[in-house]
Amino acid sequence: MSPLEFLWVRLNTWAFQVFQAIMGALRPLGRYLKSHPRAERVADRVVGLPEEVFKKVAYNCQMCGQCILHSTGMTCSMNCPKNLRNGPCGGVRPNGHCEVKPEMTCIWVLAYRRSFATAWADHMHHINPPVNRRLAGTSSWINLLTEADIRTQPGWQVEGSGNGHV
Ligand code: SF4
Repeated sequence: MSPLEFLWVRLNTWAFQVFQAIMGALRPLGRYLKSHPRAERVADRVVGLPEEVFKKVAYNCQMCGQCILHSTGMTCSMNCPKNLRNGPCGGVRPNGHCEVKPEMTCIWVLAYRRSFATAWADHMHHINPPVNRRLAGTSSWINLLTEADIRTQPGWQVEGSGNGHV
């Protein structure tokens, strides 16, 4: 990892710790939004746009609405052409590049490498449920507050979810 990449991940790590503290303080708001769907929709619109602009620039965010950045070395796994959420497929090339887009380094190679620069490298082992397409385009920050991002289909348990929940 280049020093610049290391610094980038470290900066993200610190920023994420601040973000988590803010989200913790906003839990009462999350509970309110959960029981007031109209207010939740408004909050989603108000927060979603700045979130999209910021995260698009910083991470090439695809607005999946259930962010797992923190457990993937601050690397957006939705940029994997197969949208894999739990590690690479079997097609990673010997040089670490993607089998679908040979010019691109596999997102999971980047995520694994970068995870060691975070304070929670072990979170790479979290099992993430399949991506919920119903949340696509919504604010993951609001979904984190209302816990919409950890609601899963029957049969799925979120053991050590890879999103921002602690
Ligand atoms: S995991 Fe989802 S919300 Fe997070 S950066 Fe990627 S697309 Fe955006």
